[in-house]
Amino acid sequence: ASMFRSRVPDRERAALSHEAPRPDPDDPHAVRRIGVIGGGTAGYLVALALRAKRPWLDVTLVESSAIPVIGVGEATTPPLLAFLHHYLGIDALDFLKRVKPTWKLGIKFDWGPYPDGIMAPFDWGANSIGVLGSMATRNDPNAYTLQSLFMLHNRVPVFRTDDGEYVSLMDDLPFAYHLENRALVTFLSEIAVERGIHHVDAQISDVRLSGEDWIESLRTTDGRSLDFDLYVDCTGFRSLLLGDALKTGFTSYADSLFTDTAVTGYTTQSEAIEPYTTAATMDAGWCWSIPVPGEDHVGYVYSSAFISGDQAADEVIRQHGTVGDIRTVRFRVGRHEKTWRGNVIALGNSYAFVEPLESSSLLMLVFTIMSMMPLLPASWKQPVPSETLNRVTANRWDGLRWFLALHYRYNRRRDTPFWREVWTSTDVSGIQPLLDVYAAGAPLHLRDPITRRLARAAAPTFYELDGVDCLLLGQNYPAELVAGTEPLEAWQARKSAADALVARALTQRQALAAFQARPELTQSLVHGPHSWVTGYGEERWLWQ
Ligand code: FAD
Repeated sequence: ASMFRSRVPDRERAALSHEAPRPDPDDPHAVRRIGVIGGGTAGYLVALALRAKRPWLDVTLVESSAIPVIGVGEATTPPLLAFLHHYLGIDALDFLKRVKPTWKLGIKFDWGPYPDGIMAPFDWGANSIGVLGSMATRNDPNAYTLQSLFMLHNRVPVFRTDDGEYVSLMDDLPFAYHLENRALVTFLSEIAVERGIHHVDAQISDVRLSGEDWIESLRTTDGRSLDFDLYVDCTGFRSLLLGDALKTGFTSYADSLFTDTAVTGYTTQSEAIEPYTTAATMDAGWCWSIPVPGEDHVGYVYSSAFISGDQAADEVIRQHGTVGDIRTVRFRVGRHEKTWRGNVIALGNSYAFVEPLESSSLLMLVFTIMSMMPLLPASWKQPVPSETLNRVTANRWDGLRWFLALHYRYNRRRDTPFWREVWTSTDVSGIQPLLDVYAAGAPLHLRDPITRRLARAAAPTFYELDGVDCLLLGQNYPAELVAGTEPLEAWQARKSAADALVARALTQRQALAAFQARPELTQSLVHGPHSWVTGYGEERWLWQ
């Protein structure tokens, strides 16, 4: 066993410096002045990360007040909490006060013919109640974790004791934020000023190159010239530097994901603030519903080959009643062939995009930022590991493409031309090896460790094997279930105990009020020694 142990003795590890190298003051090739072009979520998050991890860098964010940010992007995933509050060091109480996030325990898929939908909770890997018992008693996986029960009953894991104290299990069960995009971007832009990030309001009109993949300078519409050592392209779908200027090739995912447009708006919030994102099938796609403070934001993601914009808007209104501020957003699904070329790195929508069916864009964004940071050279004279970032990022996005494709290919809805088309034509070839393993014994996460490893190696998925299990079990993908090792009574006893706990839990509205009134609850959640947020170490969640 000793040959598998770390070859770096602890005392040597302690002596190694993990601090990024500083540029030499006399080096004319030093990477010192960074231009972040674009002031959406991508631009501000990367600018803050650069300041947090390499405080000696001179970071300038350039954005055009004439070109609004995309203004959507509000359902997130648990790693964002660790990124905001630990990696960037953003104060959680300040964030609570100024951005007013609501909580998301997972996604509820109203996905085809199943009466309760499919619960995709963030604790799916815990299997805390037991998936086999849930399948045996309900023929769906919805009662297999504690969090899925909280979702089913519209409660969050916070309790009020008889003597008026609060007990929170939010520290134990991973959850995410629902964020109002404009509030988030405004907050980040204010923090950016406080942290010494320079701000330039200008519209880039021309990009001057000096070589195939090297940017010399940028021209603005008001005649200015801007130049930096490194350019981070965060210009959204325009992809001004990576796409437009460097003409980087684009790999389309359109064979797997058929949607290309979203019609968005907001509706009146129901009394309960639902503690999940809802994704519900529609005639030519699906509709999200995201509770943010005071209203629910909705968006119908559809394929324009099947319905018109007016038909899409009518369908959302039929579904949700009055819908305010209706807007249309067009998008293309896929990624650029590279994220890093020469002195340009593209992040956010300027590199890649897939529809928000699994709330993945901000997750991908923070993973790419965290992967990029240790690879940045201090000087362009050094070897530059751009292909490392390119390969890792492309693989992650491709894994996401295949995972999303499963949602369409195996949905049982067949009543409209769109759903019949995706049923017959969605390309799932990249994940087929994993499906074959699943069919021979499901769920994958209960298979032996070697089979699990093989399945992951054959078809890397972005949301772990548990994520695939949840979706395929929920959609009744044909498979042999593995044999259980405990009597059903044992599962039933766990389920009853969980039901009793959930019955005592607060609604999200009550719990958010408790967290506003008791700062120590947030403090413990974000910094408590046993909290999952504290435990979300970079190494663990980047490579899970
Ligand atoms: P943008 O927000 O578009 O920002 C672009 C910036 O570039 C702006 O500041 C603009 O001024 C600037 N700019 C552009 N051109 C120029 C120029 N010529 N000169 C100067 N400045 C320029 N993500 C999630 O994680 N969860 C979700 O639920 C989710 N839902 C989504 C729903 C839809 C329909 C869409 C389209 C996206 C969704 N996303 C979601 C993705 C998310 O919105 C984005 O990934 C995220 O907001 C990052 O956007 P961005 O910063 O890359 O681009």
